[in-house]
This record gives sequence, C-alpha cells and structure tokens, in this order.
Amino acid sequence: MTNPLTPGIAPGRLSAEALAENFADLHAPLEPHEAAVAADRCYFCHDAPCVTACPTDIDIPLFIRQISTGTPEAAARTIFDMNILGGMCARVCPTEDLCEQACVRETAEGKPVEIGRLQRYATDTVMAKGDHPFTRAKATGKRVAVVGAGPAGLACAHRLAMLGHDVTIYDAMPKAGGLNEYGIAAYKSTEDFAAREVDWLCQIGGIAIENGKALGRDLELDALCNEFDAVFLAVGLGGVNALGVAGDDVGGVEDAVAFIKELRQSPDLAALPVGRNVVVIGGGMTAVDAAVQSKLLGAEQVTIAYRRDRKAMSASRYEQDLAASHGVKLMFNVMPKAVQGNGSAAEIELEYTTTEDGKLKGTGETVRLPADQVFRAIGQTLNTDAGLEIKDRKIAVTGPGRTSRDMVWAGGDCATGGDDLTVTAVAEGRDAAMDIHARLTGG
Ligand SMILES: Cc1cc2nc3c(=O)[nH]c(=O)nc-3n(C[C@H](O)[C@H](O)[C@H](O)COP(=O)(O)OP(=O)(O)OC[C@H]3O[C@@H](n4cnc5c(N)ncnc54)[C@H](O)[C@@H]3O)c2cc1C
Ligand code: SF4
Repeated sequence: MTNPLTPGIAPGRLSAEALAENFADLHAPLEPHEAAVAADRCYFCHDAPCVTACPTDIDIPLFIRQISTGTPEAAARTIFDMNILGGMCARVCPTEDLCEQACVRETAEGKPVEIGRLQRYATDTVMAKGDHPFTRAKATGKRVAVVGAGPAGLACAHRLAMLGHDVTIYDAMPKAGGLNEYGIAAYKSTEDFAAREVDWLCQIGGIAIENGKALGRDLELDALCNEFDAVFLAVGLGGVNALGVAGDDVGGVEDAVAFIKELRQSPDLAALPVGRNVVVIGGGMTAVDAAVQSKLLGAEQVTIAYRRDRKAMSASRYEQDLAASHGVKLMFNVMPKAVQGNGSAAEIELEYTTTEDGKLKGTGETVRLPADQVFRAIGQTLNTDAGLEIKDRKIAVTGPGRTSRDMVWAGGDCATGGDDLTVTAVAEGRDAAMDIHARLTGG
C-alpha cells in the first residue's frame, strides 16, 4: 500500500514474474565442462600474483589444478583451508580489483582466468553434498566470546572451534551472517545462501550462536572478559552518516543499508515500496547496490550522484558498468545541496563540485532532479566502541587484531586497517583466531 506521507513510493511496480527474473543469480554457476574449460586457461604460475592479490592468500593455482584433474572436493578443501567463507567470497569478491585483476591472462589478454566462478564451482560442489571438510582438535577447555556473527566473527569462531576451543557468538540481530545476510545485493546471494553457509560452517561443532544479544545493551565487555578466556569483537559498522543538508529529514530520504536490509529479508518483493524517481547519494558498493536494486524493483529513473570523479569512486569500474547496464545514470562531481518537497521528497538540488588544492568545493552552479526517494549511501560508522582505544573512527588494532585491552581482539569493518570487504573481514577473523590460540596455549 502506498504511504500517504510518501505518495511517490509505491509497491508492485513490476509483476512477481518480472521480479523473480530480475533478482535471479547475477552469474549462473559453471557446469562441470565449463569449469574444466575455464580451469584449463590457468598457466599455474610459480609465485602466482593472484595469490598475493587475494586477502585470504588462497593457493589459487593449486585449487584450479585440482579442478582440472576432476577433484573439485580437493579444490574446495584448498580454498576452505584459508577462507572458510570461500562460498560467499566467490559470489561477492570484487575479483576485478583482487585476484583476477592480478591474473597474468588479464595483463596479457584483458581476459583473466575466472577465479571467482571456479571458486564457486568447487565450494558449491562440497556444500551441496552437505560435507564439512574439517574436524575439531582435542578440546583445550578454553572458552572464547565472539561479538558479531558477520564474516569476521564467523571466520574467527570457526578457526577457534577447529583448534579445540569452545566459542559463543553473540549477535544483536535475529539472524547470523552480518551483512552477508542483511547487506549483500540479493542477486549476489540467492536461495538463502548466507543462512545455509552459516549452518554449514557450524557443522564443525563447538560454536553456540546467541542472537538478539547486543554489546552495550545486553552484554558488557567487562563481564565477557570475566566469563571467557578471550574476546573477539566483530561488530561491523552499524551507524550511518547523515546527508547534512536541508530536507535531510523529509519523507522518502532513507538510509541505503536499511533499504537493502528490508529488501534482503522481504518474503515478497512485489510488496516492497520503491520510488518512481530514485536518487542515490554516494560512490561505493552500497550506492551501486541500492541503485541497481531500486531499478530491478521497477523504479523508472535511478541516478547515482557522486561528489568526485569516476576514478575516485570506491565502487569498481565493473560495479559502475553493472549499474549503467541496468539503466542507472551515473552523475559525477555533484553533491547534495537540499531535498525539496512538502513533507515528502519531490526534488533534489545538486551542486556541481570542483577540486582546488586537493579540496572539494561547490561551484555554485546547481541542477535539480525529480526525486521521490533519496538514499544516503555515504559511509557507515562504528556504533559500539566498548571503551577501547579508537583510531580513524574505528577500534584501534595492531598486528593480528590486538586491541588496547589485553585478551580482547577486534577485526573486520569495525577495526582499523584493511578494506571494508567480506574477504578482508574473513582474513582478519582467521588471523585473530590464530593469535588468540597462540596466547591461550602459551605459544
Ligand atoms: C550494502 C552493502 C553491500 C556490500 N557489498 C559487498 C560486496 O559485494 N562484496 C564485498 O566484498 N563486500 C561488500 N560489502 C562490505 C562487506 O559486507 C563488509 O565488509 C563485511 O560484511 C564486514 O564484515 P564484518 O564481520 O566486519 O561486519 P558485518 O558483516 O557488518 O557484521 C557485524 C555483525 O555484528 C553485529 N553487531 C553489531 N553491533 C553489535 C553489538 N553491539 N552487539 C552484538 N552484535 C553486534 C551485527 O548484527 C552483524 O551481524 C557490502 C557492504 C554493504 C553495506
Ligand atoms: S577469496 Fe576472493 S579474492 Fe580471494 S581468490 Fe577467492 S574470489 Fe579471489
């Protein structure tokens, strides 16, 4: 039903059939013969640059060779050894900026080995069978609390459980998975993959997940430190930045992450309201995902407005082209000046920008776009610091996630260092787990 306060935002712009087609898997999985052909393109380089470019250091030439020799199960084991969320990473990694960008075939021919799709082929093969390739070491009797069940928390918990520790994960949300469950674009994680991956990962045993428990509300760090032998914080970035312009609070001006969260949890996309004219403010993956998914829901005009030039956008060129291929218009060098409308958004005024002496400033020239829905996608902020030292608006860590407090580690988006990517969160969770293990076992 249309909300009388935001009349331009309505559900049911497309039929259920059109929506099902629009939100299908972005990349179809490889068939076995296609995987064999794709794997055959790998030169199995010595000192392969793709391995260095992968934040989790997966032995890519080895797993591709294992696919070539018809043993995808062994390939999956190679992947999971380094990255237990290799299934999700295969779907969401910006491979064009990571492993595939470094591929020798990309440099020579402009067409890399399809590492991400091959990784998905191997991991899907094992996960479809329900097999879990790891077993737990002898129990150590040590207990670790992990706060946050996103990629960083899950990767840390799995590694600790595998090493024989008992782990309790606390998460504020009703479901585990973090942004894998609530943030990643729906067409990258279809058929409830995020939830299935959590269930599969927990087959290792020794991991208890307590949902609906928030640090700062239901839990305190001091109490966790008393009860457990170590604590790992992986609370992500839950806060959002405001636009800070007139009209920021009128109906129809929304947080892009909240919109995506609602979309990801919606049992019926036809019931999800979307504007006719949508403007997304920002230049990262969140901006692209909000824009593309608005279009897929049936919005007519969708524009991404970014304050700097194309090169400065944190969304990769691939993501930008994906948006353009769905009919999203990209505007560069514009920043919001005001949202106009009587109670609900009707228009957005953008000011052109220029950079002088490295500083961004408005030129005074403006443009107005019709906008009944405006999404803020201008970055997220830490909302739980637990009294720890903060640097660059994140929990300050050194080495493998050590915080300012003894026996408390942090990783993923909430901690300093690293890109805010799923694969980086996995790497940081895994590395913190190894450091925690060393401390707990006197190593
Ligand atoms: C819209 C969107 C799209 C993205 N798309 C991609 C993509 O395509 N590819 C990619 O690589 N990266 C993408 N990212 C980035 C990626 O999702 C994150 O870098 C990654 O999820 C970080 O993992 P994390 O475990 O640190 O945090 P999160 O995934 O944010 O998980 C944090 C967890 O902590 C919980 N939590 C928060 N506060 C508390 C508290 N006080 N107490 C208890 N629990 C708490 C939350 O409920 C959540 O489950 C995207 C991000 C967004 C926002
Ligand atoms: S985890 Fe991501 S970056 Fe690493 S090899 Fe796989 S797809 Fe590439």
